[in-house]
Amino acid sequence: MHLVLARLPAAPAGTRGISLFLVPKFLVNADGSLGARNDLRCGGIEHKMGIHGSPTCTMIFGDDGGATGYLIGEENRGLACMFTMMNNARLSVGLQGVGVAERATQTAIAFAHERRQGRAPGASGEAMSPIVEHPDVRRMLLTMKATTSAARALCYMTAQALDVAHRGGTPEARRAGLERARLLTPVAKAYATDIANEVASLGVQVHGGMGFIEETGAAQLMRDARIAGIYEGTNGIQAIDLVQRKLTLSGGAAFKAELAAMWAVIAGLQEQEDLRFGTMPRRLSEAVEALAGASETLLVQLAEEPAAALASATPYLRLFALARGGTALASLAMAENSESGTWLTQARFFAENCACAAPSLASTIVDSASCILAADAALAV
Ligand SMILES: Cc1cc2nc3c(=O)[nH]c(=O)nc-3n(C[C@H](O)[C@H](O)[C@H](O)COP(=O)(O)OP(=O)(O)OC[C@H]3O[C@@H](n4cnc5c(N)ncnc54)[C@H](O)[C@@H]3O)c2cc1C
Repeated sequence: MHLVLARLPAAPAGTRGISLFLVPKFLVNADGSLGARNDLRCGGIEHKMGIHGSPTCTMIFGDDGGATGYLIGEENRGLACMFTMMNNARLSVGLQGVGVAERATQTAIAFAHERRQGRAPGASGEAMSPIVEHPDVRRMLLTMKATTSAARALCYMTAQALDVAHRGGTPEARRAGLERARLLTPVAKAYATDIANEVASLGVQVHGGMGFIEETGAAQLMRDARIAGIYEGTNGIQAIDLVQRKLTLSGGAAFKAELAAMWAVIAGLQEQEDLRFGTMPRRLSEAVEALAGASETLLVQLAEEPAAALASATPYLRLFALARGGTALASLAMAENSESGTWLTQARFFAENCACAAPSLASTIVDSASCILAADAALAV
């Protein structure tokens, strides 16, 4: 069965005239048995860059007199129906990004322990070192591991908020859970799928020349990751959704609650005064400060010059993800009850290598909209 968006005759123009239909492959007889084949067929399988395990095709409806479809919901309200599905699908696609990034990370770490090349600083003997001992390879692997963990944390927080929205103890808790899920969904989807591309590309890099050869599987992950930032609403559209609709939810209450949760983590870090944290408390505090300031700038832009807010949406979403993902990892580090300290390593690495970009993203949001909006000559064909 196919879910098809289509227009009824004389429907209003634009998205307000789209209806949703269920179009079965076989029609059903009055007695419930399978009837004739419906008038639809596959016009051809697309040749895609990746996800070859998931065929995508062009469907042709009504070549032979007309396909039968059944209206779902109300006439002209098809897009609203589709959004019900898309909101769930966005979190799933975010998790698709986490999955690809996790596989790329595990593959690269295993390879880095096997592959020997050069001599690492401090290596004894004549033998070449496993590349995992080279500081630059460690940096790549930690970037892969920590950003994947931050993306996973964002997706889990969104899923938890959805659980509260469905099963919270009070109507107030359920409403707050729903608003939190709505706020976090575009961040989880776009950040997780953006970093999936970055992580999969780093995975190829860790493999060196072999990464470019299909046999290692690293290149396949890079191709598979690419679609996740495009479908279920491109990541540019997620960023616009965050700025235009989610930042202002309930007069900004959902955003303020999220900001308060981030500050609470930072207060916990500062209280513990653990030297192993390095500069993590300071870097995360700067990141949350940058997010708070950039949000105020965006709210002014939204009111006075909406085009400027749209130009800043993507750097703003990244800034949001760095501050929220970084504080989520810091919570895990503080709760860690093991000697190995793997959460501490990831949280500190993320704060000192990724979230530290937050203040410069905030500057971009303040500084660069007018340049982007006035770039007609530079972008002329
Ligand atoms: C493998 C695959 C499977 C798919 N499966 C499905 C499916 O099952 N069901 C389905 O309905 N669709 C499906 N799609 C379609 C997919 O959801 C769209 O391709 C995607 O949402 C992007 O839309 P578009 O291709 O029209 O790009 P466009 O909308 O043309 O976007 C092109 C570029 O312009 C940007 N852009 C567009 N509008 C704006 C705006 N207003 N503001 C700022 N930037 C903008 C985009 O971010 C993007 O960078 C699939 C696509 C692929 C490749």
